[in-house]
Amino acid sequence: MGIEEGKLSSVISEIFQRLPPEAQVSRIEFEGPKIALYTKNLKFFMQNPNVIPSIVSAIKKHVVVKADESERKEEEEAREEISRLIPKEAGVSGIIFDGIQGEILIEVKDPSLLEGEVRSKIDEVAQEIGWKVKVRRVIYHNPQTYEFLVHTLKSYEEERLLLLRDIGNRIFRDRIISKKDVLVTFLGGADEVGRSAILVATPESKIMLDCGVNLGVSSMADMFPRLDLINLILEDLDAVVLSHAHLDHSGFIPVLFKYGYEGPVYCTEPTLTLTTLLLTDALKVAESEGKQLYYDTSHVKDFIKHCITLPYSSVTDIAPDVKLTLTNAGHILGSATIHLHIGQGLFNLVYTGDYKFGKSRLFQPANYIYPRVEALITESTYGGKDDIMPSREEAEDKLINSINETINQGGKVLIPVPAVGRAQEILLVLNEYISQKKLPEVPVYIEGMLTEATSIHLLYPEFLNKEIKDRIIFQGENPFITERYTIISHPKDREEVFRGGPSIILATSGMLEGGPSVAYFSELAEDPKNKTIFVSYQVAGTLGRRVLDGSKQINIMDSNGKIKVINVNSKVEKIDGFSGHSDYNQLLSYISKFKNKVQKIIVVHGEDSKARNLNESINRFIFKRNISEVPRVGETIKLY
Ligand SMILES: [Zn+2]
Repeated sequence: MGIEEGKLSSVISEIFQRLPPEAQVSRIEFEGPKIALYTKNLKFFMQNPNVIPSIVSAIKKHVVVKADESERKEEEEAREEISRLIPKEAGVSGIIFDGIQGEILIEVKDPSLLEGEVRSKIDEVAQEIGWKVKVRRVIYHNPQTYEFLVHTLKSYEEERLLLLRDIGNRIFRDRIISKKDVLVTFLGGADEVGRSAILVATPESKIMLDCGVNLGVSSMADMFPRLDLINLILEDLDAVVLSHAHLDHSGFIPVLFKYGYEGPVYCTEPTLTLTTLLLTDALKVAESEGKQLYYDTSHVKDFIKHCITLPYSSVTDIAPDVKLTLTNAGHILGSATIHLHIGQGLFNLVYTGDYKFGKSRLFQPANYIYPRVEALITESTYGGKDDIMPSREEAEDKLINSINETINQGGKVLIPVPAVGRAQEILLVLNEYISQKKLPEVPVYIEGMLTEATSIHLLYPEFLNKEIKDRIIFQGENPFITERYTIISHPKDREEVFRGGPSIILATSGMLEGGPSVAYFSELAEDPKNKTIFVSYQVAGTLGRRVLDGSKQINIMDSNGKIKVINVNSKVEKIDGFSGHSDYNQLLSYISKFKNKVQKIIVVHGEDSKARNLNESINRFIFKRNISEVPRVGETIKLY
C-alpha cells in the first residue's frame, strides 16, 4: 500500500490490519514524531516483542505502545507495588514516572541486583498495572539541572501530551503542495561566528537549524539572528533543530517562545540538559549583575516543554516532507550533525554544526557516513591556513611537562576551563597521568559550573566514546571526578588552596570572564612561582586575552565591588590542541569524505578570512571546481 502518498487514515488502518485481536488496541494517536498505540493488553506486546518492529518496518514510522489509561494504576499505588520488589541493597535513589511514555525509570546504585528473576518479577507486575520499566545506573549524585528538568517535565505532563498531539497532527498532515524546491536562508552565523541560525524552506514546510546569539557584540542588531529580514511568522515554522548546547547555537530559542512559537525543538537528550544549564546560568549571572536578559525562566521552561529528544541515528519525521537524522559531531556532549531528507528522495542536506573530525578522550570523530548527501553546510572556525593544531598526544605531553615544571618549583597551577567539554577532557588527562605517576600526587581542586556539567556527562554515557562509556556503565566508575579531587563549593574554602603547598586548580570560566577562575587568578598572579595555563581560545577583549598578550598589571573588581590592582608576576602559557573544533586539516579531510556525493558546499561559522580561506581550499584542492560559497547574513541560496 502506498502509505507515503496516502492519507493519514490509511496509516491507521494499515496498523490495525497488522494487529491480531488479542493486541486489544483501543486507539491510535499521533504524538510528536511517534504514533502511539494505546492497548488494554500491554502484556501481549511484551510477550510478542516482534509485533511493533514489524509494523515499524512496514510503515516506516516510529511506533510506541502504552497501556490505555483505563488499565494504568495511579502513580502512588504503582510506586508502592514496584518499590516492594526492589532489593534494598540495590540502593534506589529515584523512581520517576513518565506518564507520556507510560514508563517508570528506576534509578539505582547497583543495577546488577535488578537482573534475572528480580527483573522478570518487576516487569510482570509493572505490565499488570499498565507501566513499562527502565533501569538507570546512578554513578554520582544527580545534577541540579536534571532534577529541574524532571520536575518541569512532570508538572506540565498533561499540557505536554496535548502539545505532542498537536505537533503529531501537524507532522503527519496530508501534503498539499506538489511544487518542489529547497531554499536555505542564513539569518546569522554566516561570515561570522555567533548567532547561528539557518532557515530551510520547502513549499510545504519551514525548519530552523540552530537559533543562537552572539554574546561578543554590543549592538542588538548584531547580537540576534535576523528573523526580521524575512518577516518570518513563527506559526509557519514547523520545527527548530538544535545541533548542540552552546549559546551561539541555542541562546535565541527562549525568545522564539517569548514571541509565540509553539512548535517543537529537536535535539539529543544531553543537549536538552546542557542547554537548560547554560540558559539558566546566563540568567543567574545577569541577575547577580543587576541586569535583565532578553528572556526569563518561563521561556526556558517553554523550551523544555516543547523539546523532543532523539537518539543518534534515528530517522524521524518532522514535517510532511522532511525526515531528520542526528549523528555524533564529536564537539561536546550530545552534539550532532543534522541530516535532512527532503521530499522522499528529492534532496538531502547535511548541516555539520560545530564538529571535531579527530579523536578526543570523550568522543569518536564526527560522523560522515550518509547514504545520500547533495548539499553540505560546514563550519569553518579554524578554516585559516595557519589553524593547524598539535596532535592530542603532543598537547597532553606539553600540558604535563608544564604542570610538572611549576609543581617541582613549589608553585600552584591554575587552569581556567570552559565548563562543558574542555573541563572533562582535562580531568581525564590529569587522572590518567597521576595514576601513571607521570604527575606527582598533589591536591587537585575544582570549582565552578564544571562540577555540574561533569555530572551531566555521567547521566548520558551512551553519548561518550566506547572506552569511557564502558567504564561508567559496566564498572560503575566515575572516570572524571575521583577521590583525588577536592570540590570547592564555597569561596571561603579557597583559603585551604591558597595556604597549601603546590596544587592544580581547575576553575570556570575559561577566559577569566566571571566565575571562580578570576578569584584564583587574582590571588595567585603576584607570585612568580605560580602559573596559569589556558587550554581554550581567548577572545579579544577578555581578561584572559589581555593576560595572555602579556599585560603586567590588571584591574579586577573584588567581591565588594572595589577595584583591585594586580601585578602579574606569575607565568602564563597557552596550550593548543584540546579544542572541540576541527583544525584546518581536519576540516579538509572531513569535507573530502563528501567528494563523490555533494553538488554544493556552503561555508558558515567562521570569521571572514577563515571562512574564505576554507572556501577557496575546498574549490581548489578538493573539488577542483567552484562548488563552495560563503553566504552573508540575510542571503538565500536555492539548493534545488
Ligand atoms: Zn559549539
